[in-house]
Amino acid sequence: MILIDGKKAAAELREELKQEVTELKTKYNKVPGLTVILIGDMAPSQIYVRNKEKSANEVGLKSEVIRYPDTVEEKTVLEKIEELNNDESVSGILVQLPLPKHIDKQKVIETITPSKDVDGFHPMNVGNLSSGYESSVPCTPLGCYLMIKKIEPNLSGKKAVVVGRSNLNGKPMAQLLLKENCTVTITHSRTKDLKAECLEADIIVAAVGIPELVKGDWIKKDAIVIDVGINKTENGLVGDVAFDEVSKVAKALTPVPGGVGPMTIACLLKNTVDCFKRSQK
Ligand code: NAP
Repeated sequence: MILIDGKKAAAELREELKQEVTELKTKYNKVPGLTVILIGDMAPSQIYVRNKEKSANEVGLKSEVIRYPDTVEEKTVLEKIEELNNDESVSGILVQLPLPKHIDKQKVIETITPSKDVDGFHPMNVGNLSSGYESSVPCTPLGCYLMIKKIEPNLSGKKAVVVGRSNLNGKPMAQLLLKENCTVTITHSRTKDLKAECLEADIIVAAVGIPELVKGDWIKKDAIVIDVGINKTENGLVGDVAFDEVSKVAKALTPVPGGVGPMTIACLLKNTVDCFKRSQK
């Protein structure tokens, strides 16, 4: 079984991006810039943002974090986004979620100009992805996709099952696999027989949030299994896939932690560089 090493894949992607940023600097005499807006002091968000900043600096991006207290008015945040939309030195804007209740998440997402939407959440980017056009793609599914492609470069005709249909993970994941000519089934909480669906799959991506939902006897021999789930349990962090059982059947599997997680941040940097490149065209 191939243990898909997300840390290694992320380090390789960062290295590629670092070289690309150096080349862009020579060509345009400027580097891509990522601005993150962080509202409030929730510990996980603080940690994510610190990691994003560190990784951005590592690959040579210009990075900035704008912090607001969780009492900040929605209007202040929207005005700041408008300002960043018009700032040429900013290639990518990310507003760290979740937001305080008094701030309308969708309004925030839709205020970020699509060409700087490094999270790929703007309806314009969602539509472009589903129409098969160039777009920013949400970072977690993009990371999953890149890892799958490393294991199996030709996905045409493969049967893929995506477990979970969130806007963040399941739906964009399905679109990426469809673009690669997979036959894609999207499953969710109302799916009648999830085991039977999974047993058909050459590729499974599980993004549910239920510890070890996907079992060993749900897996076709030699399937590629990507585990997006991050679940805190008494036994520590586990994914949505029963790792020990599934690793005996699958051809390749991502661990939790150390699989999808590290690639998510690396893909944010990739999206920033890609936004910069599109803006120079
Ligand atoms: P979400 O928005 O809660 O969506 C969960 C999806 O799972 C929903 O579509 C839901 O179906 C489906 N579901 C729930 N119970 C199910 C069941 N018994 N069988 C089949 N499908 C079921 O979750 P998310 O934001 O996509 O996150 C999923 C997991 O990924 C979480 O553990 C999260 O922490 C993790 N995550 C990891 C990363 C990373 O970087 N590694 C990033 C983001 C999220 P319905 O639509 O019918 O309700």
